[in-house]
Amino acid sequence: MTARPEAVLLDIDGVLVVGDQPVPGAVRAVHWLREQGIPFRCVSNATRRSRSAIAARLAGFGFPVEPSLVFTPATAAVRRIRADGADSCLLLATGDVHLDLLAGGCRLDDRDPPFVVVGDAGDAWTYGSLNRAFRLLTGGARLLALERDRYWRDRDGLSLGAGPFVAALEFAAGCTAEVMGKPSPAFFRLALDDLGCAAPSVLMLGDDPVADIQGARSAGCTGWLVRTGKFRIEDLGTVPVRPDRVIGSVADLPALLE
Ligand SMILES: [Mg+2]
Repeated sequence: MTARPEAVLLDIDGVLVVGDQPVPGAVRAVHWLREQGIPFRCVSNATRRSRSAIAARLAGFGFPVEPSLVFTPATAAVRRIRADGADSCLLLATGDVHLDLLAGGCRLDDRDPPFVVVGDAGDAWTYGSLNRAFRLLTGGARLLALERDRYWRDRDGLSLGAGPFVAALEFAAGCTAEVMGKPSPAFFRLALDDLGCAAPSVLMLGDDPVADIQGARSAGCTGWLVRTGKFRIEDLGTVPVRPDRVIGSVADLPALLE
């Protein structure tokens, strides 16, 4: 990309924030985007927290980010459901992501919803909740997965993500889930709709070569990889889709786009 992008997608963990600290210069860079009038969205695969909770965390670090500038798999799911003319779903997830569905005009319904939305439900997984979802899917409801990670690292060790449960429902009901998180092209398409921009004019900044870069590039965006967060130089040799550019961190953005 030589011209200035019309809009920017910013991954959150690893790009704006690492652990419990903002990346040095990141707050300044996001203020710069606002000053320049370059629209942006903070895109995250977080499925346990609402966009308000994520925005509040970012604002606590000094980022000028309101909830409407945060785009998550739950945001994408509610857009997907409403685009279909529907307004209800069964939700299997934990945390406060249900707030995003309600705010987007999607009721939570366990009787006859046209969609089953599955996130990381933690201790809420029971035979009963899975069987409820299974029965709805065999009755024609469609399955949306907020993520399909196999596992993640919790404080006390590796823990099951939503992926194994999504796979169980697909196996039992003979259906295929639509994945609403990165690197799904559907996620990027819905985020671009939210920005009102066409893919070729949009720059994605991420620290994950697959979720961020491969996802963005397969949606037609430009993908720049940052050397912060989970970046490992050896990953560059093995990734299926190379980033358009590798930069030090989000802090370099103003100088590179000036
Ligand atoms: Mg990241």
